[in-house]
Amino acid sequence: MPRVVTLPGKTIGILGGGQLGRMFAIAARRMGYRVHALDPAPDCPTGQVADVEWSAAYDDTDTAVAFARAVDVVTFEFENIPYETLQRVAEIAPVFPAPLVLDTTRHRLREKTFLSTHGFPVAPYRSVSSVEELRAAVIALKTPCILKTATFGYDGKGQTKITHLDQCDAAWGALGQPLGVVEGYVDFVCELSVIVARAQNGAIRTFDVAENLHEHHVLDVTVVPARVSEATKQAAVAVSVAVAKSLDLVGVLAVELFLVGDGTPQGHLIVNELAPRPHNSGHFTVDACVTSQFEQQLRAVCGLPLGDVRLLSPVAMANILGDCWDNGEPDFAAALEVPGVNLHLYGKSDPRPGRKMGHLTCLAEDAETARLRVIEARQRLRRTHDPS
Ligand code: AMP
Repeated sequence: MPRVVTLPGKTIGILGGGQLGRMFAIAARRMGYRVHALDPAPDCPTGQVADVEWSAAYDDTDTAVAFARAVDVVTFEFENIPYETLQRVAEIAPVFPAPLVLDTTRHRLREKTFLSTHGFPVAPYRSVSSVEELRAAVIALKTPCILKTATFGYDGKGQTKITHLDQCDAAWGALGQPLGVVEGYVDFVCELSVIVARAQNGAIRTFDVAENLHEHHVLDVTVVPARVSEATKQAAVAVSVAVAKSLDLVGVLAVELFLVGDGTPQGHLIVNELAPRPHNSGHFTVDACVTSQFEQQLRAVCGLPLGDVRLLSPVAMANILGDCWDNGEPDFAAALEVPGVNLHLYGKSDPRPGRKMGHLTCLAEDAETARLRVIEARQRLRRTHDPS
């Protein structure tokens, strides 16, 4: 595709109205762009900071077409945009990343097939479309293993760990989809991610490797620099760059990795998941890098040179879930007393348990201090700290 340069002052359309779109819109408006956001929910996190909010279902192609006519270039922040909608939009305005990239990565089976056929390491897996196939897959892969939905799966949603063959019936019943993927359970040392940006001319920049700590399959805390060897970091960057090139990505790609101990000093890496957009584990870049992952997406989409990815300080990020509202309104002032802490809230009015409402970052002299402080700040939100 020829290079499409969209300069400041022009209008960017973003499909999806969550926190990723919100932080993208903030980056875009800071650089003088106008932003239109399309999401089914009115007053969505992105809509609150966009110039124009379009409220329509994602399969309302007439509205999507009108939206595409109103903007100069389109990107997305949400993976489950119907392919047909994206295609209709792409007939009118340039879309980055290309719709095909989204179509590959939002479907677990297509993503795994893409990765394995291109020679990238993935956990052993089987596609299953009946309980009989599930049983055969569990026998082949051995327990423990994990049954995942092929679509609409993120943050551990639609996942069941199977530790015994007896659990197959219940796990299949709970899947609620005609197609699943069973994966061998990976006994990892730690989880890492790399945020890669690739420009329209093929230039590539990667942010520092992030170390990710999960709770109940949901990202809880990210620590940067990751506390792994230089050799592991280089391997993580190499595989992530290779995946971005194989996808012919223009935009930002998050590559989630498992580091597995294998007796060698650096261990080996397995690709867990891809997301062709900014990622929760890249939020540290907003406060701690010269250019954020959102500005990188903007620059890539707009055909501009990619920004400097330098990490200015060790940093940790902690997600704020709706559970933080269990004891009433969180004590934001108490959290903000912790040195080096910044607060990001996404403008969501309904703090349901498990819902990502915002995050905290902490910059400190080393990664462990940053981790301890950001966790302390988050504990303070719940008003359970001793103020004395
Ligand atoms: P996912 O939505 O596939 O990224 O899964 C969310 C989290 O569940 C991951 O970040 C891991 O902590 C855990 N997980 C997913 N798949 C596996 C696996 N095959 N083995 C071990 N843990 C897994």
